[in-house]
Amino acid sequence: EELLNIPIDPAEEKLEEQIRPARLGDFFGQPRLTDNLRVFIAAARKRGEALDHILFSGPPGLGKTTLAHIIATEMGGGIKMSSGPLLDKPGNLAGILTSLQKGDVFFIDEIHRLSPSVEEYLYSAMEDYRIDILLDSGPSARSVQLKLEPFTLVGATTRAGMLTSPLRARFGISGRLDYYPVELLRQIVVRTSSILHIGIDDDAAFEIARRSRGTPRIANRLLKRARDFAQVADEAVITKGVAAETLAALEIDDEGLDEMDKKIILALLQKFHGGPVGISSLAVSVGEEQDTLEEVYEPYLIQAGFISRTPRGRIATRNAYRKFAGHLPPPDTP
Ligand code: ADP
Repeated sequence: EELLNIPIDPAEEKLEEQIRPARLGDFFGQPRLTDNLRVFIAAARKRGEALDHILFSGPPGLGKTTLAHIIATEMGGGIKMSSGPLLDKPGNLAGILTSLQKGDVFFIDEIHRLSPSVEEYLYSAMEDYRIDILLDSGPSARSVQLKLEPFTLVGATTRAGMLTSPLRARFGISGRLDYYPVELLRQIVVRTSSILHIGIDDDAAFEIARRSRGTPRIANRLLKRARDFAQVADEAVITKGVAAETLAALEIDDEGLDEMDKKIILALLQKFHGGPVGISSLAVSVGEEQDTLEEVYEPYLIQAGFISRTPRGRIATRNAYRKFAGHLPPPDTP
């Protein structure tokens, strides 16, 4: 099973819904962001207005979708969900926009992948809550203007840098989500285990948290797999031994790196002699899409100090040599 960046089956989906924090008070971490949101939500409610449009950026699994749901709940509105690649025609977008009620949240995941024509259509919707719809085509074509209910667009992106500036300018609020510290992930694991009705020892929760790449989604997935191992072994509680067995079975190493992480670092060290190497060559050599490498794997490997980004390309750090090379790095290695 892949732990990152993958669609999940319907049974898991249902479980996800139960696990997902429903209110701001249940959302752990990201204190700067949530403190601000609390103020903006309270103010918008006081004025009886829709909340300003919000852009969330950051790696997958850190809570962008969860926050969109929470905002809708806290504002007392509904939520409609779509994504950049799904909204491939202005007509699709118009259908959703015209169905929104006052104060609803419209969530667009992967908003950096909107096509230019759809994106342009979004501008007037965000700015003035209106859209122009083209009726007929050819000589009889004419457009009518439709007024929309005031709504809140919540956009999510793993690549804030890829947003066009006109789109970015139309968000009144933007927030970046960062990887979570181990202690917070431990608390998330403990909370989730009680929702899943499985006991967990302190050191087991810590072990899972420590090896979750700073990502709540991964922490929860590892917990679910550990619950499977515990149940097969007829244990009512996830012990440190069960956690270790699970992590070993999933080939997650002591520092939380998975198979693809290792493949990337090894390619960098062995095929490219520590770099610098361009991201596209690196992607080809590990057989992964360049986008996935850039959005999912690389941010964590950089933050965990295995890869460094230079103007000439990616290079392996001392830390990467220490763990994988078995020989000393060149003298000027960061
Ligand atoms: P993203 O949209 O950034 O990819 P999600 O919002 O889908 O991430 O989060 C993935 C899962 O991780 C959620 O289902 C939720 O259970 C859990 N999660 C994310 N952030 C938190 C948090 N701050 N506290 C508790 N659980 C969280």
